[in-house]
Amino acid sequence: MPKLPSPRTKPDNRERFAQRGDNDGLSDDAALRAALLAWYAANKRDLPWRGAEAPYAIWVSEIMLQQTRVAAVIDRYTAFMARFPIVTALAAAPQEEVLALWSGLGYYRRARMLHKAAQLVAADYRGTLPATSAELRKLPGIGAYTAAAIASIAHGEPVAVVDGNVERVLCRLAGWEEGEPALRRKVEERAARLLDPKHAGDFNQAMMELGATLCSPRNPQCAACPLFAGCKTRGEHKTAPRAKMQSRAVGCALALRKRKGKEEVLLEQRAAAQTVMPGLWELPVLRSADVLAEDLRLCVRHAIMQVNYDVRVRAAGEREVKALAVAGGQRRWVPLDEAVSLPLTGLARKILTRLRLLPSA
Ligand code: SF4
Repeated sequence: MPKLPSPRTKPDNRERFAQRGDNDGLSDDAALRAALLAWYAANKRDLPWRGAEAPYAIWVSEIMLQQTRVAAVIDRYTAFMARFPIVTALAAAPQEEVLALWSGLGYYRRARMLHKAAQLVAADYRGTLPATSAELRKLPGIGAYTAAAIASIAHGEPVAVVDGNVERVLCRLAGWEEGEPALRRKVEERAARLLDPKHAGDFNQAMMELGATLCSPRNPQCAACPLFAGCKTRGEHKTAPRAKMQSRAVGCALALRKRKGKEEVLLEQRAAAQTVMPGLWELPVLRSADVLAEDLRLCVRHAIMQVNYDVRVRAAGEREVKALAVAGGQRRWVPLDEAVSLPLTGLARKILTRLRLLPSA
């Protein structure tokens, strides 16, 4: 009778490397690169910007992904690229429309800079992004990381990307701890040496993917890691504690009225000195978060950067808004079917969607 294969035909990396010994090849950079690229080819996530070679598409995705979860970016990226498929379309759009399509991603400065840079590319570079990382860095909002990502993925320039994920992987591989002297310089030098110059784009994406999936900040999945044999820490690396979130209660007013058969909502655009999100529309903010139970329409939690907001939404008439809300912004009654395409803050969109006043995205 033929011998049946064991049900576990595919040993995990820890088992394989234990059988082979720790230093039988993966300790040199060529073997690390090969293992990483093979893992990436077999395991990369199917994301809408994967496979895009147009520098503009890579640029938009990299800017959206900064400090934002992949799951939150996917739909926004798809809608943004459908409306602005080329850089000149973005350059020609009014800023309000760009911000509206960015709504929900947060960090709106990124959208403003992207728009400004697109206008420069349209005016000074005939609508074609510069091809080198050095030239790309001259554009507003494009730093070393984004320039390296665009130049390596779109043009194969052998320049290493170092984002937070890559830095964590390299520190764990080498056993470097947070707070070590000149850590950033060491990480950048190591990234440059490890880079596969012939496959710079795939290599950079593979490092970022490894950090985002297997080598995550907490509970790295070392058993499945292609770099296990070359890693000095293997799950024992001290990870810096997560920054503590603060909590804050805020109140906002929901004022509704009907005009010419249409329901309208009172929205406010606060002055630049009053908000970190100038140019965006939100519900009027109340001076006090104390809301009586009979006035309360909704409670929501909303995180912005390091703050968890406990938001109480109060039903209010226009006069009450005048009396109770923080002064200083410009207010406007907006039909709900128009509000959907305004640049709303993520919080305003969340409240209006939860109350079924806006359709869910
Ligand atoms: S072995 Fe573990 S700690 Fe080391 S790089 Fe892989 S996932 Fe990260």
